[in-house]
Amino acid sequence: MTGAPSAGECDRLAIMHVDMDCFFAAVEALDDPLLKGRPLVVGGMGGRGVVCSASYEARAFGVSSTMPTAQARSRCPDAVFVAPRHARYRELSRQIRAVMDGFTPLIEPVSLDEAYLDVSGGRRLLGEGAAIAIALRRRIGEELQLTCSVGVGRTKLIAKLASEAAKPRVGRPGEPPSPGHGVVVVPVERELDFLRPHPVRALPGVGPASARELRRFGVSTVGDLAAVPLESLVRFFGVAQGTNLHELASGRDSRRVEPERATRSIGHEETFAVDLRERAELVRRAEAMARAVAARLSEAGLAGRTVTLKVRSGDFSTRTRSSTLRRAEHQPQLIAEVVVELAKEVSLAGGVRLLGVHLSGLVELDASRPWQLDLFGGAEPTGRAAARDAAAASVRERFGSAAISVGGDSTPTASGARDFLGALSRLAEVRDDEGPAGTGAGRSRAEQARSQPRKG
Ligand SMILES: [Mg+2]
Repeated sequence: MTGAPSAGECDRLAIMHVDMDCFFAAVEALDDPLLKGRPLVVGGMGGRGVVCSASYEARAFGVSSTMPTAQARSRCPDAVFVAPRHARYRELSRQIRAVMDGFTPLIEPVSLDEAYLDVSGGRRLLGEGAAIAIALRRRIGEELQLTCSVGVGRTKLIAKLASEAAKPRVGRPGEPPSPGHGVVVVPVERELDFLRPHPVRALPGVGPASARELRRFGVSTVGDLAAVPLESLVRFFGVAQGTNLHELASGRDSRRVEPERATRSIGHEETFAVDLRERAELVRRAEAMARAVAARLSEAGLAGRTVTLKVRSGDFSTRTRSSTLRRAEHQPQLIAEVVVELAKEVSLAGGVRLLGVHLSGLVELDASRPWQLDLFGGAEPTGRAAARDAAAASVRERFGSAAISVGGDSTPTASGARDFLGALSRLAEVRDDEGPAGTGAGRSRAEQARSQPRKG
């Protein structure tokens, strides 16, 4: 390593991590001022609902995100429980984004309430990172009556940990939180002192499993980790993960702020009150979710190329199956068909607890449209028919002949056109990924071990 900054590192403090303070709960309190200052939990209300967001007053009672709502209820029976209103959160998220747009074009949203900003381009006009952070935070407060915490540093890792350090602190049960700094800036020369006391879990890619393993070697903080020789980490975690950990623990982070990350995937997941055990029910649910996701995709003006079905069994093992289309698609019928095919292959052993449908490989809808117009309206270029037949044959091969009919064999016209489209666009590739508790077919143990820590 030379002293020169790498790709994602700035010479100065220009990376910012903006994180709204308990966003969903704050939005609920914004829309209903009676909820302000009360223990408030936003979460699924069904028997297996989980907490999406909790006010600091609720957190004081030990309520936290992803905890089952039932558990939150027993920890804080006096809290107000409300179901999430995602459309409203998206609306406000867009407004927050609009405020950020006024500061820099380099914005990488991580979720509805969290984003990385690279403000290196605006410093001459807007001042140093710290000044920009203070101005941005004030603007969000003024325009939206919502608070956020902002971390500023030379790298994404530092900025992220700094925004965490800027957060309000939970008070004792029944007491209000103490206000946080709002903005924390970590100067370059203070980076290592700032990093060292953090638990290893604070590093991206260190999940509960890695943290447990590291603890066995007496490594619990980032400082401990930084003292472990690179060779030992590589021997233990493999080259990729070992090197990555070594770099991060030493304060080196080459990840850039990637604006295109905005649209990496769109999806929907559902945890069922009772495990699904019937194939027909599973297929029906998966199909409905696929249509919902396709609708959101069109809403966002996007089309997606990779369709993924995620299935968590009753024993919490998780598998994903995905299908990569030849072209990005957004039509509900087509996406639903692909998902149905994937759902037919899902194992029902142990019941299905959670189902998710995701579309990734997203492109702007306009980019995919010419191809569709050409299919439905224009003359077929030479070779297109042959390509279509080959595609259909390959789909049949994978899914059996029941899976597809081409060019309106026996089905009504609309569906014929759709199948035709389906045959042509379908499958470059079908992929199976298994969670840690899967059977391991198709993946080596080493591969599984490598991917495992990243899930945390
Ligand atoms: Mg947040």
